[in-house]
Amino acid sequence: MFIRVASAACLLMSATAYAQDDALISEESAATARELMQRGLESDTGYEIVRSLTTEVGPRLGGSEQEARARDWAVQMFTELGFENVRVEPFEMPYWDRGSIELRIVEPFPQMLIGSALGGSAATPQNGLERDIVFFDSFDALRDAPDDGSLEGRIAYVNDRMISAQTGAGYGPANAKRQFAWLEAEARGAAAVIIRSVGTDSHRFPHTGMMSTPNASSVAAGRHSRAVIDYLNAEHPDFNENRVWSSIPAVAVSAPDADQIERIHGAGETLRAHLSVVAGWRGMRQSGNVIAEIPGRELPDEVVLIGAHLDSWDEATGAIDDGAGVGIVTAAAHLIGQLPRAPRRTIRVVLFGAEEVGLLGAFAYARQNADEIGNIVLASESDFGAGLVWSLTSGTSDEGTAFLDETQRIISPLGIIRGDRANRGGGPDIIPLAMQGVPVFRLTQDGTDYFDLHHTPDDTFDKIDPDELAQNVAAWAAVVWLAADSDVEFRTQDE
Ligand code: ZN
Ligand code: ZN
Repeated sequence: MFIRVASAACLLMSATAYAQDDALISEESAATARELMQRGLESDTGYEIVRSLTTEVGPRLGGSEQEARARDWAVQMFTELGFENVRVEPFEMPYWDRGSIELRIVEPFPQMLIGSALGGSAATPQNGLERDIVFFDSFDALRDAPDDGSLEGRIAYVNDRMISAQTGAGYGPANAKRQFAWLEAEARGAAAVIIRSVGTDSHRFPHTGMMSTPNASSVAAGRHSRAVIDYLNAEHPDFNENRVWSSIPAVAVSAPDADQIERIHGAGETLRAHLSVVAGWRGMRQSGNVIAEIPGRELPDEVVLIGAHLDSWDEATGAIDDGAGVGIVTAAAHLIGQLPRAPRRTIRVVLFGAEEVGLLGAFAYARQNADEIGNIVLASESDFGAGLVWSLTSGTSDEGTAFLDETQRIISPLGIIRGDRANRGGGPDIIPLAMQGVPVFRLTQDGTDYFDLHHTPDDTFDKIDPDELAQNVAAWAAVVWLAADSDVEFRTQDE
């Protein structure tokens, strides 16, 4: 493991190398950051937090009883770790329940397939439905298909593959079919939609995930076909005000099952499938964000906000998504909390509820704390598994950029380079804050394997490498300490 090369000697060498000409970070603050990095590498607190959450709470879908238990767990954890101002900020949310699924090929070669309902999916009739499959190579092929009645009453199948990349860059393009294939299919009268899972593995685990609803910006961005626009205007003219969810069942099949469909289709055979889905919306439930702080010693009203999401999909224990993030940011803040002297600014840890089902906790936080968003000097979320951090990106003022340039030199022994300096992405739950001008940074992780496990029943604790997770804790502790111990203005002046 190369991070073991980052010995105390290395860290001390960088101390002398940069002590003279660093204007924005004091040598005392930098020395503390190096000490935190060393302790982070040696600490198993983050790993133990993930173990506890995934074992003692397990799966925790937004709005479920298990998610409520996760909030109780988080309050107890923060309290035991000595955090202050520990609190839950509850909010109401519509609850979607997966129920059960059965999917099989009826013709030409009868056999079971492994699938998972997508979040927001409707149910089939009680006895299921049996229909021919219409095969589309890609989401674009479905979107560009003529509205000629050829999908009427049939099952649309979409086959896009996702590309594996260190940055996770393959996710956005591949995800179009998860977001909106249901709408293209529904507008053309399809009875159901099946997609190849959005994932990079070849295991027999389907990848679930939330579908999206159409709105003015998805229309303006040209994401929908003419058939969809006509359908929305005819059937849901108020879709901008009222979210329009799928009224047909929508399912993802595992990659090997998608290959099976592709082979049978490729041989020129017509597939007929039986699908039974018992999923649907089950009324309003309560979720909540769990918050804890390390109060600042000089500027307690100025807040460095770091987060992760507490909820997970229901089919696994949510270890990489996002138990890892919970462990990383909590352990990093805890290391800082154990220092003899608190940082100048307050560090606030927010464990967001109901992220997977539409960033509901993130928007609730921004709404419930609207008066106070101006006090957040910098924000970031850890939500990309437990793989090694390799880059520090940011979107801040010029002074903030220069400060984070210095910060990167301090954390470089961890194997972290300076990435994009004009990146307003701070993580999914930071979006509502960034939209209101909150400056952001991100510790970008290696995501080569992330989408092998993401949203599958295989996202479990055994997949986490404790050394890689500890490197994350080390990096977060250093960056958060430095930002919180400074009085740097990260905001650009016109915001
Ligand atoms: Zn996540
Ligand atoms: Zn997720």
